[in-house]
Amino acid sequence: MPTILVIQAYSAIETYARLLMTAPLFVAGAILTVLVVITAIKWFCHWATQRAARKEMLLSRMGPDGQPYPPSGRGLCDACQKSSDKVYYMPSGQRLCVKCYGKLPSRHVQPRLDTETETEDSTNATT
Ligand SMILES: [Zn+2]
Repeated sequence: MPTILVIQAYSAIETYARLLMTAPLFVAGAILTVLVVITAIKWFCHWATQRAARKEMLLSRMGPDGQPYPPSGRGLCDACQKSSDKVYYMPSGQRLCVKCYGKLPSRHVQPRLDTETETEDSTNATT
């Protein structure tokens, strides 16, 4: 048997052995890469969902004009004198139901219902 053939055979066996030894590393690397990619995609989806929910929550707290709604609770509306499950507590101390609050020409401008009643009273007093 020529020595060159023996050397070539050993060389082939060595190459095959190296391939067998490095193959699990490649498989592990591929699995790790796939896991990292899946985790990144999941994290991104979670982040996007959280961001959309936060944006929706913020928008639900703000009116169409971009101004935040005043604090609300159950109570009696000062404008229509009806009790409501949701009454906005205006910074002026006035309580307005959702319907009367929506009638405001500009939400951040306080309604002047007191002056209207005063003028009515004064007209009644003069007549
Ligand atoms: Zn009302």
